[in-house]
Amino acid sequence: MNLREIGEFGFIDRIAGRIVSGTGVVIGIGDDAAAVEPVPGRLDLATSDMLVEGVHFDLSFCDPVSLGRKALSVNLSDIAAMGGEPRHFLLSLAVPPSIPLEFLDACVQGMLQRAGEFDVALIGGDTCSSPDRLVISITLLGDQLPHRIIRRSGARPGDRVCVTGTIGDSALGLRLLRKGERSGPALDRHLDPMPRVKEGRALAEAGIPSAMIDISDGLLADLGHILDLSSVGARLYADKLPLSTRFRAHFPVTDRESLSLAVAGGEDYELLFTAPPGKMQELFGLFEGLGTPVTEIGVITQEPGLSLLGADGAELRLDVAGFDHFAASDGTKPCATGHGRPACGVHR
Ligand code: ADP
Ligand code: MG
Repeated sequence: MNLREIGEFGFIDRIAGRIVSGTGVVIGIGDDAAAVEPVPGRLDLATSDMLVEGVHFDLSFCDPVSLGRKALSVNLSDIAAMGGEPRHFLLSLAVPPSIPLEFLDACVQGMLQRAGEFDVALIGGDTCSSPDRLVISITLLGDQLPHRIIRRSGARPGDRVCVTGTIGDSALGLRLLRKGERSGPALDRHLDPMPRVKEGRALAEAGIPSAMIDISDGLLADLGHILDLSSVGARLYADKLPLSTRFRAHFPVTDRESLSLAVAGGEDYELLFTAPPGKMQELFGLFEGLGTPVTEIGVITQEPGLSLLGADGAELRLDVAGFDHFAASDGTKPCATGHGRPACGVHR
């Protein structure tokens, strides 16, 4: 069965029938617009992320449940990076005739499962046909007290650069998928990332970070955004980068290739933030309580530019950068599942 048989409205009813009413939802699915109740004194946060078949996912190696979860997770990660509390989301789908209804059902199931885990409610969206590619677009709304919201622009010289969890696993997972592997925990970090919502909120509530971003385009590229907007530079220490046991098992020697994958691979959905040195002790205490690893990987400098130093203190030059959808580089077409062409160098 596909959407043709039950029609747009049959499909919308199907989704509406599966959702439970969420906190603050005054009018949900079914009218011309949804109405949500703002929390007094808090600022609304809004973010939108689109997943396009052939650009962000490949139907030959992603299962629909994980795809649904990931579509929401990447949005949750953006609210997490502001230190916010996610609340409500809108789901817009462009569906080609080749997609079976079972696939869409499973995708929505995964999405609603993740929504339940983070207590966010689906309040509406749009459904239309697409000539040949599936497009999933989510707009997520959240909120936070004005003084707790963490921006990209607050990094100051002397602040430490920190990252949650481990990096490079998603890029490794994608690489293994492309080589034909179809299951295993290494692939899950790519297919089904877990957003750091709890950590982002805890950091904001403790007032620790001076700037924060989530890693979607790659550690270097995303740190670059903080540096640009804060008008500062940074020094990173390669031997301090948090690499998972799995990543180290795959790359027993940390060479240029593995290092490039770790710092430029992207889609880690970890939080990358800066914090004043005086707050580091409190930070480590906080993360011990959360049960999440956090690692200090470098320092913010007054001089602009981003350098990556090896264990001997010498600067490492890697030919890497994060993913940019429209960057023209070597003239080849962008690759079909995320992670594409070098967009900007380590040396900015
Ligand atoms: P309109 O024509 O006024 O834009 P629609 O017919 O597109 O309204 O949608 C009817 C209702 O169904 C709206 O409340 C809309 O938000 C909701 N809706 C449509 N598509 C989706 C979807 N994919 N997921 C959740 N809600 C949806
Ligand atoms: Mg509509």
